[in-house]
This record gives sequence, structure tokens and C-alpha cells, in this order.
Amino acid sequence: MRKNTNSSKKNRRAILAVAILCIIAAISVLLANNLGDEKKKAQETLPPVETETVMPTEPAQTDNPAETPDQSENTPEPAETPGEDSPSDNLVIRTDYEVFKPNEAGEIPIVMFHNFIEAYEPNTEKEFTTTFEEFETLLHNLYDQGYRLISMREFIDCDISVPAGTKPMVFTFDDGSAGQFNLIEKDGKLEVNPKSAVGVMLRFNEKYPDFGLKGIFYVNMNIGDNTFQGAGSLKERFEILLDLGFELGNHTWGHVKYNTLKSIEEIEESLGKNQQKAEEVLPGLRFYSLALPHGSRPENKSLRSALVEGTYNGVYYHNETIMAVGANPAKPSISIEYNSEYVARIRAQGREPVDCDLTWWLPRMTDNRMFISDGDPKTIVVPEEKSSQVDVEKLNDKTLITY
Ligand SMILES: [Zn+2]
Repeated sequence: MRKNTNSSKKNRRAILAVAILCIIAAISVLLANNLGDEKKKAQETLPPVETETVMPTEPAQTDNPAETPDQSENTPEPAETPGEDSPSDNLVIRTDYEVFKPNEAGEIPIVMFHNFIEAYEPNTEKEFTTTFEEFETLLHNLYDQGYRLISMREFIDCDISVPAGTKPMVFTFDDGSAGQFNLIEKDGKLEVNPKSAVGVMLRFNEKYPDFGLKGIFYVNMNIGDNTFQGAGSLKERFEILLDLGFELGNHTWGHVKYNTLKSIEEIEESLGKNQQKAEEVLPGLRFYSLALPHGSRPENKSLRSALVEGTYNGVYYHNETIMAVGANPAKPSISIEYNSEYVARIRAQGREPVDCDLTWWLPRMTDNRMFISDGDPKTIVVPEEKSSQVDVEKLNDKTLITY
């Protein structure tokens, strides 16, 4: 009997214990679900709080100890917040990589523009001219498709701070035509002509400041005041353009066809003289990028080093990027396939579309192949399977993160 009573007591205790365990388990599940929901919500609401991610990193391989990142492994950096000293007010960083799949080994489109006019006329050239209206429509399309502008300097340094999940793009303008940029005088003051590509970009920037107000203009100093023809001196035009955050690049003295030049000296003159004249117009102006006129290079490969650097009349020049004319999106500068001496550009659509222009490329520039930013210029984030595309020698002080 006692035994039985004991055993029924034991049974009751066992049932109670199981019941309590069940309740605890149920509460745990409920709590876990709630937390999971909150986590999900946090991921859906952009941007999540940036926590310092101390990820396994590939140290930059360098023979020069001075270039080794001066950073203790155990020193977490403060969370990234847009502050007074922040390079960008639009810094949006995300670390939920699996969700938005950043790929900073992907390609970056570098668009090449030439002429802009108010309206086409019957004799308007067909491939390299666009209207202001079409240009404005293009800006909207690019913005909607997630492209954000970076400068040539940022491209060269892979110093890319477009918002997380967006795609960097570079605008380049050749020949210094008035439709690209010119000044008008209003009430005794110089202003950017709204009927110019820069005027259109300024207007667009008021509405969509996160698109970026950037681009590089490749100029030929031999045409003198005909560059950005309009009001103001050439010096004032350069100053205003640079003050707006744009850049100036070398397009040679004389718009030379390099496949016709036969000596180092001729090449040095075409680049050094253009540099020299630019500095005469605006002291301190240094070109760091060259756009090859007609996309042509010397046939004799031993002459090509003079495109990169050289000296003319005691004036030294150094082109950190040399831009071609066709016809693909470019590899980023940290890619094993990057060649700074021949960087691909895509021509903007002209009056009539042609194969491999930007309109042709846009639907082909799929997320899988393009550079998608994590928002943090200090990190290079790539999917594990694409990590072999990163040249760790080119990372400098950036941290490689794979996921
Ligand atoms: Zn040109």
C-alpha cells in the first residue's frame, strides 16, 4: 500500500515535473520567437546598428612595413556614424551580408560622355551627343537602378562610400565642351549655366543628394578659352568646377592619336605640355588620370610606359589611371584583373543607340557581376566564392571580409 502510495506520489511528482518542463519550454519558445521577430525587424529596417565586426582578415601582403595597417587586433573601432569629420553624410553601412549580398570585387561602370545640346537638329552627330532632357531622364534611371556616383580619385583608391546595397558608377566627360559645363553671368556674378550637364546634375542633386555630384572632365589645354566656352576666364571655370567637387583630367595637348606617335619624347610632350599649361592657368592643378583620345595607344608597346609617367620641360606627370574608350564595365582597383593602364569605359547613349553603349549595358549589368557596396570604405566585402578575385596586395589599409 505504502509502496503504492509512494509510487503514486512519485508519479504525481513526475507529472508535475514534466508539466513544469513543458511550461518552461513553451516560454522559451515564445521568447525565442519574439527575439527572432525583433531580429528580423532589425534587419528589415535599414540601416541596422553598426557593430564592429572583427572578422578574420587577410593581412595586406606588403614588403614595406610602413604600409602595414597600424591597428591592434584587439582595438575595436567605434561604430560608424556620419559625423562632422565623416567623408560622406550619406554613410549607410550594413553588416547583414547574407541578406543584401555585397560584392566589392564586382565591376564598376565608368560612363563616357561627350556632347550635350538643347535639341537634336538634322545634322547632329549620332553617337556622342545627347540632349539635356535625355541626360536628366538618364540620371533618374540610374538613381532608380541603385547607381551612385563616385569620383575618379575614389575609384583609383577603391575608397567607396556609397550607401550599402547601392552600386558605384563614375561619370567621365571628354573634350571640355560647353554643353558639359559653362558659366553665365547673372547680376554680375558667375553661375553654372542650367543648360549644361553640370547644371542638370546640380538640379538633380537638390532632390537626390545621395546620388552624388561627381565626375571627371578630361581637357585639352591647346584649345585655350574654348574649353567650357562661356562666361568667366578659364581659371574661373576650372575653380568653380573643382569647388563643386568635380575633377579635371588630362586629355593631351592636341588631342593626339597615340597610334601615330613614334617616340617617347612626343608622348611626353603631349602629356607634360598639357599638365604645364593647366598649372599655368590654375597653379597647383595636377592631373592624375588620362583619357586616351580616340582610345588609341602607341602600337609599339615599349612606348606605353610614357603614358603613365614622364617629364616634359621639367614638368613631371603621372597618370594613375588611363582610360580607354570601350566597351565594358571596369574591374575595381582591388581586383586581380585590374589594369590601371587601360581602364574600360562605357559610352553614354548618343542620339541613336549602338551596341555596348550604356543603354545596351544597363540590363546586362546584373547584381551578380556588379560591385555592390557594404557602405564602409574601409572594408572590402566579398562572397566567399569570389574572394580569389581580390588582389590582397592592393588592399592597402582596407580589411577584407568574406561571407
Ligand atoms: Zn576626345
